[in-house]
Amino acid sequence: MKLAVNTEHRIGVVEGDQFYDVTDAVPGAGPAWPPMYMNRLIAEWAELGPKVAAARKAASPVALSSMKLLPPNPCPVHVIAAPANYRKHIGEIGARSVSKGRTAEQQGFFMKSTASLVGAGGAIELPRGSSRRFDHESELAVIIGKRARNVPRAEAMDYVFGYSCLMDITMRIEPGVAEEERVTRKSFETFTPLGPWIVTADEVAEPHALRNQLWVNGVSKQDANTRDMIVNIPTLIELISSVMTLNPGDVIASGTPEGVGPIVPGDSLRIGIESVGEMTLPVVEAAQFSPRRF
Ligand code: MN
Repeated sequence: MKLAVNTEHRIGVVEGDQFYDVTDAVPGAGPAWPPMYMNRLIAEWAELGPKVAAARKAASPVALSSMKLLPPNPCPVHVIAAPANYRKHIGEIGARSVSKGRTAEQQGFFMKSTASLVGAGGAIELPRGSSRRFDHESELAVIIGKRARNVPRAEAMDYVFGYSCLMDITMRIEPGVAEEERVTRKSFETFTPLGPWIVTADEVAEPHALRNQLWVNGVSKQDANTRDMIVNIPTLIELISSVMTLNPGDVIASGTPEGVGPIVPGDSLRIGIESVGEMTLPVVEAAQFSPRRF
């Protein structure tokens, strides 16, 4: 099943290019802040999943093209990310990276702000007037299904609810000039496009055998396969849950392959992950200058 949320905070099951509104089966759904309803739906999926399936049967299709999508979980408790996680990517960004070629196995994970999430219907906004370098990273997002604490890797896949496409947009450091913390550089509003939907884990037979692609202005820039991940999904869950509790609806960005490169306003970024989905977002310059310039 593919679950999406539109800008009216309606929740839909997506089939083909149609959206079947199942909002009435989801407790607490609506525009009230904070929009936590997808966390609850995921947490209570055993009970609510059949109700969603029944609502889908009763719903009439609406064209996806007639609406804009929010992130399929608009307000996860955590957005966690693995550093560079494919063999060929290690080293390609060299001095502009603080990871110095180390993997998640060695350096652990980092956080992105939940405020950086944007859906398939949004745009990537770069800070107005910035001369810094901003890069795209194409990543498989893992959506957590159950509270997870100290979960060994052998059991970790039982804690996965589903998958989504994620772009980890990054402001690079300028060695010796501007070397902000990674959380700062990756947490600008709209720097984590997520979507277009969550596909439930039962529809992805092998998440470690998915083509992961990203195009800039129609030109292929990243084209890898999740089988080349260095630290795989169960090992990431083991690592993260050894430190903190993962909650239902939490998002793990599983790291980028090679081919990372700069983006500028006017670009169009398309991400496609096999068996999950694809989406295209424009890159724009933010409408306003921020009081602190970057
Ligand atoms: Mn990344």
